[in-house]
Amino acid sequence: MKLIRKHVQQLQAYVPGEQPNGRGLVKLNTNENPCPPSPKVLEAVKAAVDGRLRLYPNPTAQELRETLAKVHGVSPGNMIVGNGSDELLALATRAFVAPGKDAIQYFTPSYSLYPVLANIHNATRNEVALKEDFSLPTLAELQAGRWNFKAALTYVTTPNAPSGRGYSTADLGALCKAQKGVVILDEAYVDFAEEHAMTLATKHSHVLVSRTFSKAYSLCFQRIGYFVGEAKLISALDKIRDSYNVNGLGQVAALATLRDLPYYRTNFKEIIRLREQVAAALASVGFVVLPSQTNFLLVKPPRLAAHTWQRKLREHNVLVRWFSDLRVKDYLRISIGSEKEMGALMRTVKAILKR
Ligand code: PMP
Repeated sequence: MKLIRKHVQQLQAYVPGEQPNGRGLVKLNTNENPCPPSPKVLEAVKAAVDGRLRLYPNPTAQELRETLAKVHGVSPGNMIVGNGSDELLALATRAFVAPGKDAIQYFTPSYSLYPVLANIHNATRNEVALKEDFSLPTLAELQAGRWNFKAALTYVTTPNAPSGRGYSTADLGALCKAQKGVVILDEAYVDFAEEHAMTLATKHSHVLVSRTFSKAYSLCFQRIGYFVGEAKLISALDKIRDSYNVNGLGQVAALATLRDLPYYRTNFKEIIRLREQVAAALASVGFVVLPSQTNFLLVKPPRLAAHTWQRKLREHNVLVRWFSDLRVKDYLRISIGSEKEMGALMRTVKAILKR
């Protein structure tokens, strides 16, 4: 008897960046934050590791929802917390898209999870190319092309990954206004950007903004993400999530993070400063460096193929990300690590260029 659905047999799993065990690696491949969580967060998590681990966590992450609602000036009913924003992006497909019928739409290149989610859900994929410089097409350009203003669900990575390009709230606002279905503005990297588009989630009843504690708040390990938007959309997601989707230590860590925001704001500034410094250093040795509003750089390396560069850097214990996708196969995506790690990157790059 066939145990696995044919549809599932044919799926390709999402491929995350390598998470090696070995120490001594310069890990610039998954956009993790080089700064540790605030000492207060570590204290709060340690203090919570006791007999309480036998209990279920709060099922709605209520205190976290309420605190986040205050941070964003919305009601707790406008918030849902997830096991990372990835969980919520997946839940959105199940809540808003009829499988085998509706379309999920996104720009290419953008977050490589979206096609995987569309395929899992058996949704039609509508992929529309960003412009040559990774900027957003204008409304007129979208109208002239294959863009679907009635797609059930549209994901927009803003600022964009893997290009790093930031989008203006005005342009995103015009796009949201023209869209009939649900729009998710995936702001995973927004704390490193010049603008955010949170106002669009309060202005439009079909727009959700997605945020995460993973990148700017140094908390990948704890898996905390959230959506902000219209209460009706949020309660649809609430209906279909796991009852205890947000683990207890994650809730503790995220709450402690929100009590120490100045610590993180200092980190954002430092990462942005380092990003600009590394961008200039790479450009000075022949790399084409795209402008970035994130904690990573998309760069086109000189002389050798990008894939070869990735392999050579790996041989020197420097991990960066390479995507085989046609639009970005000539580029490397390099996360901004610590000053020391970026020094190691530049030394290795120069050593490879000398050979
Ligand atoms: N959106 C984008 C654009 C990302 O790059 C990532 C991280 N891979 C996520 C969302 C998911 O982040 P998390 O699940 O850790 O919140």
